[in-house]
Amino acid sequence: MSMSRGPLISRISSSQIYFFLITALGCGIFIYFNRGDFLNYSSSQWIWLYAMLGATLILNHFMFQLPPEGNFQSMDSSVYLACIFIYGANFALSVILLNLVAVIIFDRKVAWWKQVANFSVYSMMIMGSAFVYELSGGVIGPVQNENLGAYLLALLAYFILNVLLIGCFYFLQYKKSLYEILKSFAKDTLLVYLITLILSLALSILISSNGVFGLILFIGLSTMLSYSFKQLFTMYNEIQEKAIRDQRTGLYNHSYFENLLNTEIKKVIHNDESLSLVMIDIDDFKKYNDQFGHLKGDMLLGFLGKFLSEECGPADVIPARFGGEEFTILMPGYDENKAWDFVNRLRKKLNDTYFEGVEIFPSGCLSFSAGVAGYRTDIHDKAQMVDFADQALYYAKKQGKNNVHIYGSGSAKEAEIDFAEDVRDIEQQLKLFLYKDVDTFKHSKRVFRYAIDMSEALQLDSMDRRHFILGALIHDIGKLEIPWGILNKKDRLTTDEWETVKRHVSWGKRIAETNDKFKELVPFIELHHERYDGGGYPHGFKGNQIPRLCRMLTIIDSFDAMTTERPYQKTKTYEEGIIELRRCSGTQFDPELTELFIQYMEHKIQEQQQPAAGLES
Ligand code: GH3
Ligand code: MG
Ligand code: MG
Repeated sequence: MSMSRGPLISRISSSQIYFFLITALGCGIFIYFNRGDFLNYSSSQWIWLYAMLGATLILNHFMFQLPPEGNFQSMDSSVYLACIFIYGANFALSVILLNLVAVIIFDRKVAWWKQVANFSVYSMMIMGSAFVYELSGGVIGPVQNENLGAYLLALLAYFILNVLLIGCFYFLQYKKSLYEILKSFAKDTLLVYLITLILSLALSILISSNGVFGLILFIGLSTMLSYSFKQLFTMYNEIQEKAIRDQRTGLYNHSYFENLLNTEIKKVIHNDESLSLVMIDIDDFKKYNDQFGHLKGDMLLGFLGKFLSEECGPADVIPARFGGEEFTILMPGYDENKAWDFVNRLRKKLNDTYFEGVEIFPSGCLSFSAGVAGYRTDIHDKAQMVDFADQALYYAKKQGKNNVHIYGSGSAKEAEIDFAEDVRDIEQQLKLFLYKDVDTFKHSKRVFRYAIDMSEALQLDSMDRRHFILGALIHDIGKLEIPWGILNKKDRLTTDEWETVKRHVSWGKRIAETNDKFKELVPFIELHHERYDGGGYPHGFKGNQIPRLCRMLTIIDSFDAMTTERPYQKTKTYEEGIIELRRCSGTQFDPELTELFIQYMEHKIQEQQQPAAGLES
């Protein structure tokens, strides 16, 4: 019977080959150096061998558990090092062999071949360390001050071999950067090995001066230390748990949720899996609070925390309290549709779940609205994902609450309806200019139209387009606060009057901030008089400090001002306007965006001239 070799070899990974090689090499080293040395031991040497074996087994049982990750660290290496220093490498090898026999018999949880591999690695570390100890002049026997350098070097060899041998295995197994693996291994174990050296010297001294009694003393001390460390770790865990939990709901709190989201986003960027984020807001919670008081409201929040925790646990998704009556669910491995299914089922289940007083809700039951955002490759930052889920939630509320909406799934028509509604809202406010300053009304409408065209030229995504166009329409809203006399003055303004006019950007900002819907438009209102060279107002921001679309608005705004009638300056033709834009490009205006706008204008002028030329011929 024969088996083709190709598939078999391809099924064996490089880490497995490495594993076998290391095991074989370690066993070879053991056999070559030890050669059954222990067979010739005297009975007192056997007693010491058993005593040392006992010490390693006890230290293996009482491992040190260290915060923050709770890595288990055995201090048994201190026994092997002490053996090398007092009795020589062969004795240490004999202890490790007996240790192997003992763990294969008594510790059935770990496969025997893994125990053999572990034994091999230890054999190599022991021999390497003993070799360096001898080479650097270390003398075998009781601890001596002159040996201090040799002790340190031996430990160093032991440590380096450990990091290299294990690090290479992880490198082959997980295919991550070898340097990063070795660095993190070295960082994690350096302190442990320094402690190991101190312990091994203490053990050597105790054995040299007090024999078996010294050894018992050492084991007693180490087990007590290990126990204290365990207590410390438990305490650390309890404090850590308190710091990441929200007391009211028992769910993870906001800051821990942000950490988790960050980690999950980093993971999906690298491994191409799905991830969804759900933002949940309880419908009409204020009504419940108003009716029954905050204490009862708090109880309802606690109830919802328990509900989410029970429903999310089995699905391997992570709920958290985002704040107030808002919750998030982080869903690794879920695309947006799968996430929607889950949350929609959750919503129905909550509708059918009774809690005292739910009759007062408009729908007669407990309900929430939710927004789902799936991870997309253009998401690099947690804030973006939260923002998308939040916008989807906003849609869900607008559609009448008690429903779940996926970000970006609203039809184009739906978005247009919303957009038209916002335009109408702003126009309503601008209509006040019809009586106060009709020029500003007309100017705003023209800038709005330029912005519609430029958002196409700039190929803006739907959200930016929406903000840019609405921002252009609303940008001068603060002028409503400028006194009528100044706004309509035909002569040049005095310095004081000019200062008053300049304040329209701050007044406008305050007006927009009163409406949640227009908060995103604030930069357009506040920053459209900033200059590219930093000489503008109100902040004197420069270059990229001014958002790109605000820089674009400044160009459109100025061009329209130049090319339409103004009380105290000559009106420019479009061509003259273009020359003026070029003159101020790089000082007042962003040069790249200026060129883009000029291209658009030249094209538009050409288009306007063509029909005229057609008529003439
Ligand atoms: P909507 O359906 O639009 O979400 O309406 P709503 O009433 O739920 O939303 P709104 O944002 O207007 O009000 C949220 C309320 O949640 C306001 C506040 O009184 C209440 N709230 C926030 N945090 C807590 C809390 O920790 N305990 C209690 N009892 N109430 C809270
Ligand atoms: Mg809310
Ligand atoms: Mg609410």
